[in-house]
Amino acid sequence: MQTEFSINEIDRIESFYENILKETPLLVRNEMPSAVYDEFCKIREKACRSVLDSLDGNLPPMSDVLTSDNKIRITVETANAKPLYVENLRQKSAYLFDGVCRQMTSRGAVVEENGSSKLQTAATMSMVDETVLFPDDAYEQLYKSMENLRWLLGQFNLKKYGLQYGFAVDDICRLRVYYKNDSDLDFLRQMTPRFVSRECQFEYIKSGMPYDGIVLALEAVCYKKGFSEKGDKYKVVNGRIRTESFELHVCEHCNLRCNQCCNLSPFHKEHFMSLDEVKRICDFLEKHIAPDVIKVAGGEPLLHPQLAEILKTIKQRFPQTNLRIVTNGVLANRYLTEEIMATIDQLWISNYRNVAVPENTVVKIKQMAKDKFVLLNIKDVDQFYNIVLTEKNEDESNVSAIYDNCWMKHRCLMVRKNTFFKCTRAAYIEDQQYIYDMPTNVKAADEGISIDDPDFQQKALLYLNDKDGLQSCSYCLGVSGTLFDIRQMKKEEVQAKML
Ligand code: SF4
Ligand code: SF4
Repeated sequence: MQTEFSINEIDRIESFYENILKETPLLVRNEMPSAVYDEFCKIREKACRSVLDSLDGNLPPMSDVLTSDNKIRITVETANAKPLYVENLRQKSAYLFDGVCRQMTSRGAVVEENGSSKLQTAATMSMVDETVLFPDDAYEQLYKSMENLRWLLGQFNLKKYGLQYGFAVDDICRLRVYYKNDSDLDFLRQMTPRFVSRECQFEYIKSGMPYDGIVLALEAVCYKKGFSEKGDKYKVVNGRIRTESFELHVCEHCNLRCNQCCNLSPFHKEHFMSLDEVKRICDFLEKHIAPDVIKVAGGEPLLHPQLAEILKTIKQRFPQTNLRIVTNGVLANRYLTEEIMATIDQLWISNYRNVAVPENTVVKIKQMAKDKFVLLNIKDVDQFYNIVLTEKNEDESNVSAIYDNCWMKHRCLMVRKNTFFKCTRAAYIEDQQYIYDMPTNVKAADEGISIDDPDFQQKALLYLNDKDGLQSCSYCLGVSGTLFDIRQMKKEEVQAKML
């Protein structure tokens, strides 16, 4: 990160505004009469403005006001450029891009700096509205604060500036963790890095908190690692192409039969990726691709009898990269071992409502994740986006819009049959044509790049940064389809078309 961007020095300004200090003992919001709180906000704004005025008119956000030793601390990020976008400067509840009002306070500003977009956020805490969630529980508060931070970053949807998708947690390059209790520090040092890119720098700062029960607050500085009107998303960094993620489908079949499964897993006969293949893919990554996270997925990865060995192999080769399992969790009780949990950094469970993970298994998984410092994300899933087109979409401008809007082309990079693909749809296009009785006019090999190609890196940069999409996009809705309820297909439905 440091080599790519110059991160400005942080001016930490201890402010001693007498009028605020007078009210410091009342900073627990619930105990503060609203007139005092309003007055406090006015004074705080004035205090912050006076700092801003000394910064040549640039308008960075301030951190939430944190207190320690009866002092008020205001953090100011300096910026070399005028902000493109300032959100929620006065800390109103945040309205998100999906139109849902989340009752949380948040602020931030985006500046264009050195050709990249930088976002500076205010502190997020484990709160909804004025209510402290999980009082005094650092473990739960870290999850909640990260969730709030994720929402906050997502609000900065920058399409109007030619940037896409808002900021992501992976864009965080500096994270300040304010903590209250020394006894939480070891845990925070172990667990916090699991949430973010390994390039992120951390600061752990002991601090007073503005609310009773709050034991930590997070504050982030992000650089958009994505589109910029001044450059392509994909670049070579230290000899490899930096990507958001990369996935290995260690087995393509699955124990479930979800209709419209993205990888057509219900139709795949039993097939396990060999350890040699895993090693070959590791060689390829080592040479060409530097993902923020390596996802071991499928099909259902827990079905693989050598999963523990595969994970250890990947972790040994890429100790600095977050390693994630993506599973439906149904077989977790049987196959998700302590050994596996000790190797991975993240566990993503898609919990399908009609075949949900039993509650006692969820309790067990949560405990294991806590013990092994594994970042756990259990997502209840009821619906999928309709993705498969069984006939060619002849509307070229629509195909182009679908491709433009599709985030899978960044998050589902993979290698299949020695070919590197930007998305799973392209990797499985021939299977799709067969299953849905479509003309077999698109060849998977033409939709990706051979990993043995002597000009791989040069070709991959063009391929990944390409604005025009693939032939496969004419048979795909990407993330532009409509939602429908997931159902489990009957065996007979899939048997006729087994691959
Ligand atoms: S659990 Fe996932 S991989 Fe398995 S069939 Fe359902 S969507 Fe496909
Ligand atoms: S085929 Fe095109 S639209 Fe579909 S997932 Fe891949 S990139 Fe996205």
